[in-house]
Amino acid sequence: MIKKRYLNGIFSLFLSVLFFWAQAQKVNLNYYLPDVFYNPNITTPEEYLGWQPGEWHITHDQITGYFKLLAKESPRMKFTEYARSYEQRPLFYVTISDESNMGQIEEIRKKHIELTDASKSMDLDIADMPIVLYQGYSVHGNESSGANAAVLLAYYMAAAEGDRVEKLLKEAVVLLDPCYNPDGLNRFASWVNMNKSTTLVSDPNDREYNEIWPRGRTNHYWFDLNRDWLLLTHPESRGRIQAFHHWKPNILTDHHEMGTNSTFFFQPGVPERTNPNTPQLNQDLTEKIGTFHAKALDAIGSSYYTKESFDDFYYGKGSTYPDIQGSIGILFEQASSRGHYQESVNGILTFPFTIRNQVVTSFSTQDAAIEMREEILRFQRDFYQNAAKEVKGDGTVYKISKKPDYNKAIYLAKLLSQHDIIIYDDGNMEGYFYIPVQQKQSRLIKTMFEVVTDFKVNIFYDVSTWHFPAAFNMLISNSVQSISDDWKLFNAEELVQHDNAFKTDTEMVSFAFEWEDLNAGILLNALLENGFQPRMMHEAFTASTIKGEKRFDRGTILVKSGDKNKNLFDLANKVNVKLYGITSGFNSEGVMLGSPSSFKPEKVKALMLIGNSVNAYDAGEIWFQMDQRLNIPLTKVELTRFSSLNLSRYNVIIMPDGSYRSLKQEDMDKLKQWVSSGGTLIAFKRALNKLNGSLITYESIPTAKRTFENYGDRQEKSAQHVIGGAIFESEIDTSYPLFYGYSSSSYYSFKRGTLAIKPAGNSLANPMVYKTKPLFSGYASEENKERIKNSSGLVIYGIGSGRIVGSVDNPLFRGYWRGGDKLFENMIFVSGAISGVGLRED
Ligand SMILES: [Zn+2]
Repeated sequence: MIKKRYLNGIFSLFLSVLFFWAQAQKVNLNYYLPDVFYNPNITTPEEYLGWQPGEWHITHDQITGYFKLLAKESPRMKFTEYARSYEQRPLFYVTISDESNMGQIEEIRKKHIELTDASKSMDLDIADMPIVLYQGYSVHGNESSGANAAVLLAYYMAAAEGDRVEKLLKEAVVLLDPCYNPDGLNRFASWVNMNKSTTLVSDPNDREYNEIWPRGRTNHYWFDLNRDWLLLTHPESRGRIQAFHHWKPNILTDHHEMGTNSTFFFQPGVPERTNPNTPQLNQDLTEKIGTFHAKALDAIGSSYYTKESFDDFYYGKGSTYPDIQGSIGILFEQASSRGHYQESVNGILTFPFTIRNQVVTSFSTQDAAIEMREEILRFQRDFYQNAAKEVKGDGTVYKISKKPDYNKAIYLAKLLSQHDIIIYDDGNMEGYFYIPVQQKQSRLIKTMFEVVTDFKVNIFYDVSTWHFPAAFNMLISNSVQSISDDWKLFNAEELVQHDNAFKTDTEMVSFAFEWEDLNAGILLNALLENGFQPRMMHEAFTASTIKGEKRFDRGTILVKSGDKNKNLFDLANKVNVKLYGITSGFNSEGVMLGSPSSFKPEKVKALMLIGNSVNAYDAGEIWFQMDQRLNIPLTKVELTRFSSLNLSRYNVIIMPDGSYRSLKQEDMDKLKQWVSSGGTLIAFKRALNKLNGSLITYESIPTAKRTFENYGDRQEKSAQHVIGGAIFESEIDTSYPLFYGYSSSSYYSFKRGTLAIKPAGNSLANPMVYKTKPLFSGYASEENKERIKNSSGLVIYGIGSGRIVGSVDNPLFRGYWRGGDKLFENMIFVSGAISGVGLRED
């Protein structure tokens, strides 16, 4: 017998009254969910957790366990894991639809995908097709009301009965993704739960509401995953984007939180700050969907706003990525209670209240989807029809050259292919990867490859440009040509690899590899770890290899042939770096192999300063680069421990962007002492300001004093002088050790912030100078362009036998700016070999 029951049971009502004095936020399930029949065979969240959502912050393992259970109990639901976070938490969504749809879900999916195929979509009967919703939550781990709401939503869709849910599940496929960022969510849940008092504390000063650095917003490596949708640096994003393209949903939602004193926001954002590549109809539909949110929030008396803030400009955000691909991305922002029960200007903000707003707007998204189903399906179809018309007859093909850096070309091609971009491979390691613009993703390709310098409005919530070729320091050519029958579709699993096919007893004078290779730094570190004695050449030379004469540039690494050859070949093959066997030390051009113009790089023993006042994103990017890419152990030390620390075991100290306000004069003296005994100190952006005057001296170029004509304009006027993220072009000296491995004298860097530094008096100490027209792509005010032109990108100093290398820009921006990898590697491996004549003297 199936027992039906109502949720507002007398028992739970009794409990909530009894404990009201201590559990002011204790609520019933029908505080969140509509009062309908629920299938009693489906476990409620409270039965599973032992407490009602909102009483505690749910941890990610609890979410996973509950969703797995629901998928087992309900024939409406299927569990799909799409990735693992770094801390080995599963990322997943559940596919939810009625039993009949679930029985033919793969057919439904395939037919749905045909809507995005301009050659097939006009034959589809839209009236008949379910709409596909991707509802996702809490990409910022410390904005957790969304993930907690998703648990309630999952229960509702698994257990509820009646007209609404039946219509929903008949006419929609819901892909429910409770948490885009498991590691961050868990970090935050632990924090608020461990600091929660039984007698709730509403004082914002309580520890519960003040997370310690680096907080739960980010993923394991302190990256903002809501900037990574286009960049795909992390497994969370790569898996999610694969799921996105597997389904190509019509609507994708992204539920966030904002400041405690605000209300509730839903898109559209500021209309004139929408990316011009997004069709107006996308924004119109977003606005129409918004009327459903407004109605739903009115019904429960919650305040909200729209259009006044946030934008839809950068496609690397969850709510904007879909907008360039025929979907509709929607951002929600709920005022955050952070913990459980916090005072705000609007009174006490309880955690359950924040969860309820997320639940209600998740329902209103579904209601809009059902009501507007055909309109939204038609929009998706027409988006791809129109995109196909735009490129009809356009035979342009972009060409990614595999020379001079095959591994970098592979990385870029892989990244693009993950966005469902079609790429052809000529199979030749010295050839090209080809990207025809005439394909489904033509609009996405356009935005990834376009230089933009004209903007309607000069205010950006995030970056103003993301030009991928510049990010790889690799300008990409294009030509009008046809697709050759000899090319194969790009397949990351079947790429031609360098074949270091030497016999293990091969005796050469030496083996060599080129420093320009994206993976050369990994190999250099592996050699140092494995007891090799590699040497780096300061000069170019032409040597006799077993395959003939070959020119090697500055920075080439030499490894002596010997009994460890097999190990050498294995290490090189593992990272696909080409080894050259050199047969004689007598070079036909340039220096001899035994030249004194070379040095032995040391194994890097690095320390990075972190903690309050250090930019956690930039620090995380360095940690990620060292750990995930270069496999170099990095010791992370809190600033509070610096004064008692023995520095003698480190040869590299890294200071990411930050104000370092807690470091005192004696700390600076300690650093200076350590540098003078031979250490390499690497400082980024504002860390340079901290060193200026105590360890180094430079003159920065001041900004003009702001004057405003009236009070109302002040924010807009000052925002115009922000460099939120733009690409600048500089002239580099490729003979300078910090630029070994660069073959072009133009270098692109990503600039955030307005620091500009006058060049050194010693002209040899200016290996990177911004061009006279420094802005390549993105927005910067005329004043800033003027300040930055001909200024210096690097500050290079010497104290005793040590070196200080400072960079105005972050070369590792968001882990996707791979054009800066080599500069960073040179900083850690090569700085110590910079001759005194190349240093600032002033
Ligand atoms: Zn957020």
